[in-house]
Amino acid sequence: MAENSFQIWDDAIHTAPDQVKRIASAKKAATSPSSIDRESKTGVFEGSGKEPYHVTLESCTCGDFRRRKLPCKHMYRLAMELGEFGGDFAKGTNKNVVSHGQIKFEEAVDEIEKLPEAAQRDLQRVFFWNPNPEYMHIREVDDVSKALETCPIVEVKEASLTERLKLMKKTDIIHALKEMSVEYPKLPKEELIQWCVENAPSIAAYAPKRCIVAPAFCVSKLYRSIYTYLARKFDWNNSYDIFRDKEGVFVIPYGAQQVKQPDGQYVYDFPNDEVTDMLNKHHCNRCAGGYVTKARE
Ligand SMILES: [Zn+2]
Ligand SMILES: [Zn+2]
Repeated sequence: MAENSFQIWDDAIHTAPDQVKRIASAKKAATSPSSIDRESKTGVFEGSGKEPYHVTLESCTCGDFRRRKLPCKHMYRLAMELGEFGGDFAKGTNKNVVSHGQIKFEEAVDEIEKLPEAAQRDLQRVFFWNPNPEYMHIREVDDVSKALETCPIVEVKEASLTERLKLMKKTDIIHALKEMSVEYPKLPKEELIQWCVENAPSIAAYAPKRCIVAPAFCVSKLYRSIYTYLARKFDWNNSYDIFRDKEGVFVIPYGAQQVKQPDGQYVYDFPNDEVTDMLNKHHCNRCAGGYVTKARE
């Protein structure tokens, strides 16, 4: 076997601008390989299609190499991984691995529209706050949470006993412990909760039932779009405006922008984007045909 088969490529090519770009892409975490075989000096990289790319130091099955017959980003990355080409590369999840687990925005909206309105409004809060790791959408177990359980864009989990006890007043926790005839230590609320979880888990029968709703991985790229869709569907904004010569505060659908119509009249419309496309598809574009501000009630 050749000592270093990447050396079949003349050093001079690596400084050409088109190669420099590929070297930069090769270093990114998003170009991480699925596997590397150090002995055969080959690698497998997830591609945008179904079939992954099979990569050697001399060739690659990707379209870029097929077209150019020059090292593609996969080959550079393989050479870097094998220590045969310099460069600090970032390790992580290949972007195609991420996107393969993703659903399209249109599919996400189709799922949202299968839900009752109350559940859709709940989703709006879930997607507004996430991915803030501090935020946990904790809610009652009811018809809405049951509907959300059927929805593939969120995960509904039972809230932990700790979370449920936090919702109780300390006096109610103590009342429950007394009813259970459990001897308990004198502790501040937070420590008492921890004590209950460890020593009296049957207090669960007294704690309110709650569940936690979190976005599913399949929409991890769509938080913003999903939130915007629901906000444009349900929310109102105040608009300082002049309307029929009256100046004041009017309400307009969230995210609507003022546009001048050919007749000189001003109306409100949503930006022309994929979110608005979906509002139209599901017949809930409140700005369809131009929204005219109404005086606030
Ligand atoms: Zn294959
Ligand atoms: Zn390639």
